[in-house]
Amino acid sequence: MRYRSLLTVLASLPLLSSPELRAQRPTLSAAVRSYVAVDSPIVALTHVRVIDGTGAPARDDQTLIIRDGRIAALGAARSVAVPSGAQVVDLTGKTVIPGLVMVHEHLFYPTGPGVYGNVAESFTRLYLAGGVTSMRTGGNMNGFGEIGIKRAIDAGKKPGPWIDATAPYLEGPGLGLDQVHELTGPDDARRMVNFWADAGATSFKAYMHITRAELGAAIVEAHKRGLKVTGHLCSVTYREAAALGIDDLDHGFFVSTDFVADKKPDECPGQGAGMTALGAADPAGDVLRSLIADLVRRHVALTSTPTVFETFVPGRPLPPGLDVLEPQLRAQFEARHAATAANTTSIFSSLFAKELAMELAFARAGGLLLVGTDPTGGGGVIAGYSNQRALELLVEGGFTPLEAIRIGTLNGATFLGRANRAGSIVVGKDADLVVIAGDPSTRIGDVRNVQIVFKQGIGYDPAKLIESVKGKVGLF
Ligand SMILES: [Zn+2]
Repeated sequence: MRYRSLLTVLASLPLLSSPELRAQRPTLSAAVRSYVAVDSPIVALTHVRVIDGTGAPARDDQTLIIRDGRIAALGAARSVAVPSGAQVVDLTGKTVIPGLVMVHEHLFYPTGPGVYGNVAESFTRLYLAGGVTSMRTGGNMNGFGEIGIKRAIDAGKKPGPWIDATAPYLEGPGLGLDQVHELTGPDDARRMVNFWADAGATSFKAYMHITRAELGAAIVEAHKRGLKVTGHLCSVTYREAAALGIDDLDHGFFVSTDFVADKKPDECPGQGAGMTALGAADPAGDVLRSLIADLVRRHVALTSTPTVFETFVPGRPLPPGLDVLEPQLRAQFEARHAATAANTTSIFSSLFAKELAMELAFARAGGLLLVGTDPTGGGGVIAGYSNQRALELLVEGGFTPLEAIRIGTLNGATFLGRANRAGSIVVGKDADLVVIAGDPSTRIGDVRNVQIVFKQGIGYDPAKLIESVKGKVGLF
């Protein structure tokens, strides 16, 4: 009873119906409303199992009250009163987890040799359908398009998650992709950061051929504006980047060149060389332990992207969600998957499990491990579906299901500075929730059974979102 009165007090806090909050929940366009399954000012999710995203054990038979887009009350079903006028959704046998917060997402897809097609319209729907309510893009090939769709979603014109939109890549010469600008030096890096921050980008991605001077300049400039820098590095080692103040390193240790014996400063020895050296490294040895200690000491986060690497591992199942692809893109990926299966000498056969173990060691040493899917590589990593698969792969790597869910929710929100609003199921936070049939705390694979995705208290129908893009991803 004491609990209930506390909840009543919390539910009546003026914050929960402030003009500020109303401003944050835009009027939805007819197009967005066509995907909505639940939209009432007060919603009661009753008899539901709650996994709150903090890593705490699941709690059975809970009632969760959503009011004006926020979580207004939460507790045992017998102790939380359902307010009059609430739309009641009985979730017996189902689970809610926080909306996923994933940090290496993309709004482009490898559509042809050396070309990344803009799939922002379809992928934003698929991310939401898969349970992603907040995400950072980990590099931008769409120029202003990425910032544009973020704004359209925020304004209620299009369905999709909240997006931390990256600027176009900070990359030096060497990649050979026409879509990517080649930095000419530190001044150019500073110019890029300020230009794109002015344009609305809220995050930066350093890439394989950046120099230490350019990376350092970009970090200083981004930090002046309160923005973070992540990196898929090669020319700069993890240890060098950490010393320069980078906030996050992408792809776990897969793209670290710290293990390459004859590494030359500011030169990328090639991703293959880095992986060969990593494959020869002792995962329990001093080199890795010392590197991990350095990253933890400097508060550098590490982003695991197991889904993109899984597509390179021989003998793995076809990834989920391929039927959303435009048929030619689907055939293209399936041919590559068959070729991977036939490759008897792939380094990924042994490196994949080793890498997952290194990420586990990083987290166990106190590092902030994040997760994302990276739908690039050779294709086959499908927004939404791959976010669920990423959680399964974290469990394969040794995390418990509750830890994997925390990495994919609260850890991401913490890194993005959104933990006050998202990442866990707590009274006062946004009602960003994924309703799942089953119990992912015991069977992580149940995360694939998404029934409703709430974003700011509005419940979206994943089947409708998926149907709208089926067979068409690659075209828009
Ligand atoms: Zn990426």
